[in-house]
Amino acid sequence: MSNKNRRRNNKRNNNANKQNNSVNTKKVEKVEAIDYTEGITVKDLADKINQSPADIIKLLFMMGTMVTINTSLDDETVELICMEYDITPTKVEEKEEFTLEDDIVDDAESLKQRPAIVTIMGHVDHGKTTTLDTIRKTDVVSDEFGGITQHIGAYQINYKGQKITFLDTPGHEAFTAMRARGAQVTDLVIVVVAADDGVMPQTREAIDHAKAAKVPLIVAINKIDKPDKNIDRIYSEFSELNIIPEAWGGDTVFAEISARTGEGINDLLETVLVAAELEELKANPDRTAVGTVIEAKLDKGRGPVATLLVQKGTLKQGDPIVVGTSFGRVRKMVDHRGTELNEALPSMPVEIIGLSEVPIAGDLFKVFEEEKDARAIADKRNIARVEAERNQTSALSLDDLSQQIADGTIQDINVILKADVQGSAEAVKSSLERLDVGDGDVRINVIRATVGGITENDIMLAAASNALIIGFNIRPTMAIRKTAEEQGIEIRLYNVIYKAIEAMELAMKGMLAPEYEDIVFGQAEVRELYKVSKIGTIAGCMVTGGKMVSGSSVRLLRDGAVVYEGTMGSLKRFQNDAKEVATGFECGITIDNFNDLKEGDIIESHGEIEIDRE
Ligand code: GDP
Repeated sequence: MSNKNRRRNNKRNNNANKQNNSVNTKKVEKVEAIDYTEGITVKDLADKINQSPADIIKLLFMMGTMVTINTSLDDETVELICMEYDITPTKVEEKEEFTLEDDIVDDAESLKQRPAIVTIMGHVDHGKTTTLDTIRKTDVVSDEFGGITQHIGAYQINYKGQKITFLDTPGHEAFTAMRARGAQVTDLVIVVVAADDGVMPQTREAIDHAKAAKVPLIVAINKIDKPDKNIDRIYSEFSELNIIPEAWGGDTVFAEISARTGEGINDLLETVLVAAELEELKANPDRTAVGTVIEAKLDKGRGPVATLLVQKGTLKQGDPIVVGTSFGRVRKMVDHRGTELNEALPSMPVEIIGLSEVPIAGDLFKVFEEEKDARAIADKRNIARVEAERNQTSALSLDDLSQQIADGTIQDINVILKADVQGSAEAVKSSLERLDVGDGDVRINVIRATVGGITENDIMLAAASNALIIGFNIRPTMAIRKTAEEQGIEIRLYNVIYKAIEAMELAMKGMLAPEYEDIVFGQAEVRELYKVSKIGTIAGCMVTGGKMVSGSSVRLLRDGAVVYEGTMGSLKRFQNDAKEVATGFECGITIDNFNDLKEGDIIESHGEIEIDRE
């Protein structure tokens, strides 16, 4: 069933339900007061107040909110319901037993210096990737190993006996995505700006990001090997943005580099070390590890693979771990050279395998003493996540829903997106959300975008939120296909981004209420008039442009002005009715309820046609 039909059916059912909406307020045993915790579900509240969940669902329905037995209720709704039953609710704080927040307090003596974690940002083509590559190559250790460097989303170099970690995902998406999820992993931002180009929109964005994250910023003026470099211009452009170079009496270091020739790179690294020292970056290495996911993907051979950045403690091979909602043991751990490691210290990025599912960049991870604890907590977190996602989408107000459909103002297409790698998931998500067809009255709402195959969970969420599932570079199992079919969930698979976008664009057009435009079909000049009793005035005409269309709307023009608007009564070629008469042909035309025609009048045949929103 299409979304539209499903919605229609919903609407129909809702209307049917409306007929029978008396709320059963029969009280089994009078409850006077209850305690509840944030986000209590309909079912749990029903239990507490001794009512059936169905009654609460009905009650809320009457108030215009659709909920299911598992919907979490906000405080206001809990109060409303309680008021209805004359019960006093008291909210109590829930003890969060399954967060991945770090609950260990490290005392000052335990803290040791840790390497700085650096992000490189800047405008496209200003040399972020080249700079990252050149810096990576300065690492003699890498050369000695002769290993093939792999892209794992971050790397660590050794410079003059000190380590520096670089996040190896240039561009702002990764950084913003992580910050949006509350992850703060960067200690320092290097803004790369091309000496021959100057401050551009993404340069400004990079500065804003660094400011928002409250981390120090170093400017690397790149491409100084170019003859048309203009350092002064760059100084002044940055100064205008209140980033004043040291050379001009400010406090921002501007390093001049050529990522291509390697000139100035050592100075840049030196600057990073100095800045890092000022920041006094420290962490306790002697404890269980916590940190953040930098990147994650599904590998055909190895299963879920995640790059973790250790922020506190030491991550060890074999550690039981919860990563986002995924859990497992650190089965194998490698650095960006592919070298297998037994442990990873603070600020170190490592790629691990051994997780139950693919986490999301920005997810926190935490090591547990026991694998069974890890599993239990991951399970709880999973349930909480599914719950949160469902509530986000299903607590739709009935009024809103039917209103939207009735007047066609907003028609959201809910989409669940599954992709092979985080990068594609983000890319497809942002392209879809940016899709705009005409008036922007149909929107795509990506309610989940994650890495990995389609799961039962996805289907549940799709069913709960009237969503369709888009798979990018993944194939669903037969079992999943079957479940989806049973639930009436549409799965669409793509392996090229633009194909996915194109298809959604079409879907959006399909969902749009057709748009009509009035167009002129043609004009005919009145040459002779025949008065026929019973019929009225017949105008003998010559079609002078376009065509006359039988039954169409007409305008009567006299000396360029519209003197009458109405409907064509009949259109004849000789004695016969015609559907259309083209330019250059004679025809007889009558106008419904109008006889006051004159020779020389122009009859314009026009009408509305459905137009393509292109
Ligand atoms: P990104 O989009 O910021 O990652 O930029 P890239 O690192 O891909 O660089 C964009 C282009 O600029 C590439 O063609 C590079 O070879 C070139 N480029 C980067 N750094 C330098 C440099 O220091 N000097 C010169 N002449 N070209 C550079």
